Amino acid sequence: MKKISILGSTGSIGLQALDVVSKHGYTVTALTANTDYIKLENQIRRYKPVCAALADEKSASELKARVADTSTKILSGVDGVCECASENNTDICLNAIVGMAGLRPTMSAINAGITLALANKESLVAGGNLVKDTAKSNHVSILPVDSEHSAIFQSLLASPSNRALRKIILTASGGPFFGKSRDELKGVTIEDALKHPNWSMGAKITVDSATMFNKGLELIEACHLFDVAPAQVEVIVHRESILHSAVEFDDGAVIAQLGIPDMRIPIQFALTYPERFESPASSIDFAKLAKMTFYEPDCDTFDCLNICREAFEKGGLYPTAVNAANEEANLLFRQSKISFLEIGELIRSAFSIECAKMTYTLEDIEYIDRTARETVRTIAGQ
Ligand code: NAD
Ligand code: MG
Repeated sequence: MKKISILGSTGSIGLQALDVVSKHGYTVTALTANTDYIKLENQIRRYKPVCAALADEKSASELKARVADTSTKILSGVDGVCECASENNTDICLNAIVGMAGLRPTMSAINAGITLALANKESLVAGGNLVKDTAKSNHVSILPVDSEHSAIFQSLLASPSNRALRKIILTASGGPFFGKSRDELKGVTIEDALKHPNWSMGAKITVDSATMFNKGLELIEACHLFDVAPAQVEVIVHRESILHSAVEFDDGAVIAQLGIPDMRIPIQFALTYPERFESPASSIDFAKLAKMTFYEPDCDTFDCLNICREAFEKGGLYPTAVNAANEEANLLFRQSKISFLEIGELIRSAFSIECAKMTYTLEDIEYIDRTARETVRTIAGQ
């Protein structure tokens, strides 16, 4: 039986991962979250991990007092989360933390030589070549959890060599504002943005889907995971979220992975790879589905997709800067402090930061991250 560590176990992906783990009777090595000591206490009692951590120190001391009767070691702060990530009596570490907070734990797992199942796309986007090169030198595999990247990964298994890969077809649902003009987007609220048509996810990624910054992050994620240039990635809007992405080979053959929109399918594949097991997800009813629709993305209205493409093409730490600017702007929108259209405008301010350094350390990345956040806050008057 596999042993699994889950970082971000109280979130949307974390809870669905625990669902998969329960179904297969896997052993849980470590669990971490930010502040939710009640949920984490319940998980500790049920899954009996070796260690657990809360990033927030106060919540961690509350948790420690509550689970003093268990044998789970309770850690705190970023260092505690990283210690759980590198707990090496495990087969695979699933990073389901949201945002840049996932970068240090990603590096810890990789440095400890632990296979990484990656939901936390921000750590790969912000960490760029540092994450990739460290994984390579430690012979660590990064298995995608994001549904699109899992689909690409599964489709690529159809060819023994990636050399014949012509392009990647990255699908996007289009989010709740598909078809709207910039004028119509002026007055949209956080409640409107949180109404995703197909997926139930955490608040940050749901807003990223509404701006299409999420697809921009995924474009960069795909370039890193599959060693392709942005020009080789075609983004196409597919409203039904049934075809989760595809690859086209030089002979014109297109291989795709389809399934109902249920994250437990890609989560499970990352945890069980290279095996497949029965999943709690249901099957597609093709007759009921009747049709699948595809559209060109409207990049003039949803500029965030261009922003990410430009950032990756500029190279260096520009992806780190736009990721950080987005995290701040996304949060300010969720706090109703800025309008929906201001998100993209604020993210563009990150291009004013000098990010051209092509080789960088974790400290360089964190410096650019802080600078981009400060820039956004200053412009927004916060
Ligand atoms: P979520 O907000 O539901 O959960 C986030 C988890 O991270 C929680 O357990 C929280 O306690 C933890 N966390 C938050 N801040 C932290 C910090 N500073 N330090 C340590 N832990 C912290 O988010 P989610 O929707 O589960 O998304 C998690 C990641 O997976 C994101 O990177 C997202 O882009 C990616 N993802 C999510 C989905 C989805 O369906 N939800 C799909 C694809 C990719
Ligand atoms: Mg996705």
